[in-house]
Order: sequence, then C-alpha cells, then structure tokens
Amino acid sequence: MARKDAILSMRQILIKRRDALRTALAGDLSLLKELRAQTAGDVVDAALDSAQDEISSQLAEVESRELASIENALVRMKEGHFGVCEACSGTIPMARLNALPYATLCIECQREAERYGSTSSSDADWGRVLDNSGDADVSINDIELDVS
Ligand SMILES: [Zn+2]
Repeated sequence: MARKDAILSMRQILIKRRDALRTALAGDLSLLKELRAQTAGDVVDAALDSAQDEISSQLAEVESRELASIENALVRMKEGHFGVCEACSGTIPMARLNALPYATLCIECQREAERYGSTSSSDADWGRVLDNSGDADVSINDIELDVS
C-alpha cells in the first residue's frame, strides 16, 4: 500500500475514533453533572460519589487528551505534515505511525527528547548541582598537591 493510501485509511480510523471519544466524553460529562447534582446526606454515599466522580474525571481527562492528539493528527494530515518529524523534518516510517498514530517525532528524535525530556531533567539538574559543589573536591586536591 502506498504511504499516502496508508495515511488516508488511518485518517478514517482516527475520525471514527474521534467521534467515539466525543460521544464518550459527552456521556461522561453528563454523568459528572448528575453525580454533582446528587445531594447525598449519607457520608458513605458521598464518599462513593466523590470516588466515582474522581474516576470519571480522570477517564475524561485521558479521553480528552487522546481526543486532542487525534485532532492534532487530523490537522497535520490536512496540512500534509502528518508523518513528518517535527524536530528534524525527516519522514517517520509507516510502521511507527501504525503503532503510534499520534507520533510527531521520528524514533531518533523521540529518543533525544526522552533523554533531555521532562522526566529526566530533574536528574540532570541534580547532576549539575553536584558538579557545581565539586569546588570542594578541587580545593582538597589542591591541598593534597601542596602536601606532596
Ligand atoms: Zn526526527
């Protein structure tokens, strides 16, 4: 299958998925409204309500995030940027797009992003902090050099 056809068929799948998510989100939101409208006097009922409320809102959050990814992918398809790496403008292999339709980076750039990404940035900062405090080591070495 040509790459363009593969993207077109993926577009159909994404549109169906988007519509399904929109329906689910509309359902979830109405459910949330119902839960909030209930004024349960019982403490247990209230706890159950808030627990369910939490689950529903978390679900809605995940779904709306995926919906945003789909919308983004569809816009990129429309503009002809779909399957093009945002970082290096390289072509993202169709195999990667099939596995991860919302991918906006090629595997190499994804690895780079993960290496310098937000998940490991705190570790890197700590490393830098430790490096800066290495002045003490330098002075110790100086002392040792003076002794010898
Ligand atoms: Zn790239």
